[in-house]
Amino acid sequence: MVDFGFAPIEINIHDLDKADLRLSAWISERDETFKLCIACGSCTATCTAGKFTKFSFREMCHSIRRGEISEAIAESEKCMLCGKCTLACPRNVNTRNIVKLVRKANQNFKV
Ligand code: SF4
Ligand code: SF4
Repeated sequence: MVDFGFAPIEINIHDLDKADLRLSAWISERDETFKLCIACGSCTATCTAGKFTKFSFREMCHSIRRGEISEAIAESEKCMLCGKCTLACPRNVNTRNIVKLVRKANQNFKV
C-alpha cells in the first residue's frame, strides 16, 4: 500500500441510544438556551481559555450530548468565566452560565 504520509481518521461512532444523557437533561432544565447551540464554533474561536489550554465550549457541549459526563465536568474547570463567548454566540446561548452549571453538576453526578 502506498504511504501518502497521512491516513483517514479513525471512525468514531457514538451510540446515542445508549448514551447517559442525565447531565444534558439536567442542564436543559436549568438553562434552556443549552438546546439552541448549533455547534458553529464561534465561542471556541474567541475563547480566552482556548488560547492557553485545549478548552473548547463546543467540544464540552458535544461531550455532554454524548453522555461523557466526567469528561465534560473536567473540561469545564478550564473555563475562565470571562464571558467573551456569550458575546460571540449567534444563538444567544448563555455559555458562561452553562459552564457554571456543569461545574455545579459535579456535586450531583458521581460518575
Ligand atoms: S457560539 Fe453559540 S451556537 Fe456556536 S458553538 Fe458556541 S454556544 Fe454553540
Ligand atoms: S467564558 Fe469560558 S468558554 Fe467563554 S470565552 Fe471565556 S474562557 Fe472561553
